[in-house]
Amino acid sequence: TQVIKPRIREILSRELPYELVGMLPKHWVQIGDVLILPLRPELEPYKHRIAEVYAQVLGVKTVLRKGRIGGEFRETNYEVLYGGDTVTVHVENGVKYKLDAARVMFSPANVKERVRMAKVARPGELVVDMFAGIGHLSLPMAVHGRARVIAIEKSPYTFRFLVENIELNGVWDRMTAYNIDNRDFPGEDIADRVLMGYVVKTHEFIPKALRIAKDGALIHYHNTVPERLMPEEPFGTFQRIAREHGYEVEKLNELVIKRYAPGVWHVVIDVKVFKR
Ligand code: SAM
Repeated sequence: TQVIKPRIREILSRELPYELVGMLPKHWVQIGDVLILPLRPELEPYKHRIAEVYAQVLGVKTVLRKGRIGGEFRETNYEVLYGGDTVTVHVENGVKYKLDAARVMFSPANVKERVRMAKVARPGELVVDMFAGIGHLSLPMAVHGRARVIAIEKSPYTFRFLVENIELNGVWDRMTAYNIDNRDFPGEDIADRVLMGYVVKTHEFIPKALRIAKDGALIHYHNTVPERLMPEEPFGTFQRIAREHGYEVEKLNELVIKRYAPGVWHVVIDVKVFKR
């Protein structure tokens, strides 16, 4: 996210009706050499020219119009406003992420969590990433923490990039990817750490995560929580489901990642698992 460059305003103020100049986006996201621009509907007739100017001033190859992320696979379908090639390599914290920025989510707001995961990972420990995406959270653990990782991703399209990223980061000796639904993953009592980087329905996967975890393992559990239920949630639900399945759990840590919707927060808790 940046602040509008005077040069963009200077060029477009000569071409756009006066009242629209103030609506030009002041914030955007850059992923590799692709720009994701939020555009107000009033700017629709000028969208291609606006995108062209942003591309030239900011030096990117493609500009997309920001839209919604949704569905089971958390995929997007952003409109291409300028350029055409939407596949790019984004480098963050020394990790290379190749992705299709028009279709695969990459949230700049989650950067703190990606950096935190790089720091908590320990050499040789086994991490099972149940919602791997393109390796958002688990690539940093393999690259910086030298952890062994099993990365599970259900979407065939996203999985392609996950596999490429393992290769691109040179961690094929310690990271394995599965293109399956994590509920079909057969491993039990194997993980030192389980990543649950998902939102809205993450609680449905708690019993599976508990089975994958070893006694004493840590689960990094993400979910979206209405503010009025915090701070009891999301741990309350996690603990209730764990007890129903015969596990004891302890919350070690809780962090807010970002605002998800009005009055709803994306939160992560670190939960220690005790098997009886
Ligand atoms: N964990 C990353 C993060 O927090 O930045 C990326 C998360 S992305 C929001 C969640 C990913 O989980 C998507 O790529 C989606 O396709 C995948 N997914 C959803 N349901 C799944 C399931 N049942 N089994 C495996 N992967 C699943």
